Amino acid sequence: MVASYDQRNWFRVETQFDGQSLIIKHRPTHSNISYAYFTPYSYERHQNLMALAKASSISNHTSLGLTSDNHPIDLLTIGKEGVNKHKIWLIARQHPGETMAEWFIEGLVNRLLSQDELSKKLLETSVFYIVPNMNPDGSVRGNHRTNSNGHNLNREWDNPSESNCPEVYYVQQAMQNKGVDLFIDVHGDEEIPYNFMMGGTSCSLKKQAADFKSDFAKANSDFQIEVDYDTYHAAQSSCCGSSCGNKDLSKASAYVEDKFKCLSLVLEMPFVDNDNAPNKKQGWSSERSFELGYSIAEPIAQITSKLPEINPSNKANDTHLINNKSDKCAVL
Ligand SMILES: [Zn+2]
Repeated sequence: MVASYDQRNWFRVETQFDGQSLIIKHRPTHSNISYAYFTPYSYERHQNLMALAKASSISNHTSLGLTSDNHPIDLLTIGKEGVNKHKIWLIARQHPGETMAEWFIEGLVNRLLSQDELSKKLLETSVFYIVPNMNPDGSVRGNHRTNSNGHNLNREWDNPSESNCPEVYYVQQAMQNKGVDLFIDVHGDEEIPYNFMMGGTSCSLKKQAADFKSDFAKANSDFQIEVDYDTYHAAQSSCCGSSCGNKDLSKASAYVEDKFKCLSLVLEMPFVDNDNAPNKKQGWSSERSFELGYSIAEPIAQITSKLPEINPSNKANDTHLINNKSDKCAVL
């Protein structure tokens, strides 16, 4: 748990849970204090991020539709669209309480809008479609996992209802219209104290997934490849972790991999800390989430640079260049 006297600087406080009650072991030194599970990402800050993107000449903001509580489902398009561009999709905060996910997106958006050397090069060949907050209703209401209709969005991708889950329904429609060549779904994990990625389950995508993760670890030392759901739960569960999870088409990453035959990854960040580089005062923080998002432009640039240039006349509607159509593997 974190605390703040000014809603800007957040620090860790000790807690204890006895199975019934959560006890915050902290004696405030000021009359006003806020406590949170993780540094909040307010709706006001979300709107400021939209404003930042709107003010840039290289990005565009659109609403894909309205939620049940009448919030817009915001999409940022960064870079010039075109049939010859690699289409990179990122979504965050399907689970609205995982606020580190939007701090991460803010880092990536800042990197892309900075037009540094890497971003400029990347945007020559690629266009980014970013949904910084998939679940504005849940975020505003203070829900941890669900939207305003009580649905967990990351269990709705196989058959989203327009009325109950407009968030997934409209994002899927946009993906269908624009195409997807790489997909990253950003989350926070409450248990595992590391940054890790899952996905790339089909044989043809395994190497791409491994290369991507390796490049990401080189770009930012807060990312690691040794621990993930498979390795962490291996001793505790007979389930095969990601393999089971990724066949479940109700989840975004599995659905997108299956539908668009492209590399589709889930990123998980810790709630408490990265045990490889613990920070006693702040733990895993909004700043480190931002930095991780800033860094992910590097493995994305690596993976897109390895792809052949897209010739618009050869690009069939359902062809995604990151996919290897020659996948002959029998077991996914
Ligand atoms: Zn999540």
